[in-house]
Formats: sequence, C-alpha cells, structure tokens
Amino acid sequence: MSDPKFKVSFYDSVQNFFERAAPHTGLHRGLLEQIKECNAVYQIRFPVQVGKEYKVIEAYRVQHSHHRLPTKGGIRFSNHVNQEEVMALATLMSYKCAIVDVPFGGAKGGVKINPWEYKEKELESITRRYTTELIRRNFIGPAIDVPAPDYGTGPREMAWIYDTYRTFKEEDIDAAGCVTGKPVNLNGIQGRTEATGRGVFYGLREACNNKKDMKRLGLDIGIAGKRMVIQGLGNVGSYTGLISQNEGDVKIVGVGEAEGAIYNENGIDVQELINHRKETGSILGFKDCKDYPKGERDIVLEFDCDILVPAALENQITGDNAERVKAKIIGEAANGPITSEGEKILLDNDVLIVPDLFLNAGGVTVSYFEWLKNLSHMRFGRLEKRFDQNTYDRLIDLVESKTGKTIGEQERRFVARGADEVDLVRSGLEETMINAYQQIRELQERKRNVKDLRTAAFVSAIQKMGSDYLNMGVFP
Ligand code: GLU
Repeated sequence: MSDPKFKVSFYDSVQNFFERAAPHTGLHRGLLEQIKECNAVYQIRFPVQVGKEYKVIEAYRVQHSHHRLPTKGGIRFSNHVNQEEVMALATLMSYKCAIVDVPFGGAKGGVKINPWEYKEKELESITRRYTTELIRRNFIGPAIDVPAPDYGTGPREMAWIYDTYRTFKEEDIDAAGCVTGKPVNLNGIQGRTEATGRGVFYGLREACNNKKDMKRLGLDIGIAGKRMVIQGLGNVGSYTGLISQNEGDVKIVGVGEAEGAIYNENGIDVQELINHRKETGSILGFKDCKDYPKGERDIVLEFDCDILVPAALENQITGDNAERVKAKIIGEAANGPITSEGEKILLDNDVLIVPDLFLNAGGVTVSYFEWLKNLSHMRFGRLEKRFDQNTYDRLIDLVESKTGKTIGEQERRFVARGADEVDLVRSGLEETMINAYQQIRELQERKRNVKDLRTAAFVSAIQKMGSDYLNMGVFP
C-alpha cells in the first residue's frame, strides 16, 4: 500500500515517532495501543460520469480516535491518496488537536483523484457523492465527524459538502457545523483561509524567541531578518510567506513549486511572486531570481537559509537528502514532510525541527472557532463590540477631562475600537500557538531524555489523550 520509493512509509514514520515518545509518557501498553491505532476506517468506491465514460472513484474516511467527539480533519483530493496515507494523516490529527487543546478526536478523508484534471461540475458530483456515502454510514455530522479543507480542496468543496448534508438533514439545526472551512458568506469564519499559514508564522516566531535554542544554533534571537525558503506556494505556503514577510520582517530567499524552484539571496517579494505565477502559470522567470527547472525542483530543500518551510506534501526530506539540508531550522508546515529516517540525520546535525503536529495546528484551531460559531448561531464579537468601543471612549473622555489634554481623533479611533470577528480569531490563534509552544518546550526542558520538540509534542499529546481515557474509566 505504501510507496516503495520511500524506505519508511508515512504511516510507519508516524508510528515510529509514537514509539519513540511512548516510554516517556508513563502510560501502560494497553492504553498506548488504544491511543495509537485507528478506531474506524471506511473505504468507499463509487461511480461518477466523466464525459461519456464512468469512472470508479476510490475514497476513504478514517477516524483515528474517539476519545473526544466529534472527530475532525480535512479531506484531501490527490492522486497519491491511499488507505495508509489517510490513516497517517488521521492519526496526526488526534495529536494535533490534543496539543492545541481543541476538544476533538482526529480524522481524515481522501479521494483518489487529481482535481486539476476534472471539470468543476464533475468535482461537484464527486464531492456530493462522497458526502452522501459519509451520511449513509453516519460518518459526518456536527457531533460525529467534521471535515475541512486539505490538499486539493477548499471553501468551494466545503460549500458542496454543507449543502449536501443540509439536503439530507433538514431538521438538524446545527447542520452548518457538519464541515468547516466554508466560504465566509456561507457560515464560514473570517480568517480560516489564512489560519494554517498564520499559525506557522506564530509558531516559528516563538521558536526563534527561545534564547537557548538560538544560541545553540548560532542564530540571533527573534524571527526578524531570518532567511526563509518555502517549498509549496499553495494555501499554507503562500500565507506563511506573506505573513512572515509582512509581519515578521523575514526575508524569503527561495521558493519551490511543481514547475521548479527559484532563489534570490536579496529576497523575493511573495505577493509579487504570487501575481507573477497567476499571470504566467509558473514561479520561474521571476525578476532577479536564479531558476531551477522542474527536473531540479527538489534542490529547494537544499537552498542556503536559516528556516526551511516544507509546505507541500509528506516524505520530502528522507534518508537520501537529509544530509544535504543547509537550514538550521525546519518548520513543518505540511503534514509529515520529514521521514523518521531523514529526521535521524537532521537531529544528528543539530537541526531544530518544529514539528507538524504543533506547527500546522492553526488550521484546525480556527476550524474549532468556526464550529463554535456555527453551534452558537452567532458571529463572534456581535454582542460586545459596540459595548467595548463605548467603554474605551468613556475612558479616553475621562483621561481628557482629568489631564486637560485632548486626544486626537486618529489616536482615539486606534485605541477605542471593539474587536471584529477577524481580530478575535487572530488573537485566539496567536494565544493558542504561543501556549502550545510553551507547553511542549517546557516538557522538553523538564524531561531530560526528551531531546527534541517532536518527541516532546508526541509525549504531551499522548498524555492528554491518555488522561481522557483514564478519566472515562475505560482503562484501569
Ligand atoms: N486539513 C487541515 C489539517 O491537516 C485542517 C483540518 C481541520 O481544520 O479540521 O490540519
């Protein structure tokens, strides 16, 4: 089932990481097995009409852990989908949710198609049919299992899923909570699209503020001025680049995509690059950059930089190329970009790996906010925005009357402002990422034999899940 090109499959890598962390959790074997294994695997085959022909589509939904409900995780449309891959991704979702204290079990879906080969109408019928299959087996619902976007899907697909669910479950008043990542005007939430990339930025910023780690790597403290390389300019990679550049003063020096890779040590403007790609269909040929054509695109992982951000797919840094990686920090924006073999080499070379199960958890964090919004049937900030603004205004009036000084209108508007939904989402996300980083970094510091952030993150996640099972009385 796994791709023979890789010595260690994605699923095996995740299980190897689990086993490395297990002895540090203090939990007994039976409980560890329950946490480790996938609880439910649903394999689906259904026909769709493509042109004049009928195709049988292979699809999956895996629920890794039911310790909390609903289960949660994206749906991937990709030619590489297979059962093991979806199982690995569902497993990561459980740990991811535990790390950021999002009260869901982990799940993932996959449809084995190349979405760029299909017409919109065909994609719609595939998505609707897949959703119908999930409804038939009770594998979707606001209290059961809540999908979201992943590689190859986005708000458009989520809207189809919601609409299909609503058609079947008219009486479910919480139907909007059956899927997240919906368009904002269709019960979605502001800030969900950028959430994973924004979370990656907050997570990396925290990692770069750690004095001890930066000293060990011989780097200055703080993310500003660091040179970053990004593999993948999809939703996650592009927002990571834009936000790191605009809010963190990071210099993006290299970018890789399916069509090739580019490098410019003086920096690449990410917005201009995105525009260039929209116009020409390629990142190649962008001003002042050295081009590497498609056949050499993997060189992006070996570019000289401080922070390498793989933001594409799994199994990118392996036993074969890890030795050539020059970055001192790797931020795993994708799920599973480093195999367990590749990781061994990187850790020996003292590379700081900020792991996926923490770093890309911003997506599911904001999905949680969206689900809460759907269940409460109200936009965040609606009740308090105006009240907060009036309170700040009164406070400024008081300061003016006590000091005899006038505060200018511009300054007043800057200070006396109630929060919009997007402000609340961003600050909730920032708080979540900072907290989660501190938790795993402190655990690493506390446990002498836990030497890297990934093991610390696994230990933290497994312990939280274990404590749920123990509290339920399922295990002695
Ligand atoms: N697909 C995203 C992930 O891998 C988001 C999942 C979600 O929002 O439920 O984390």
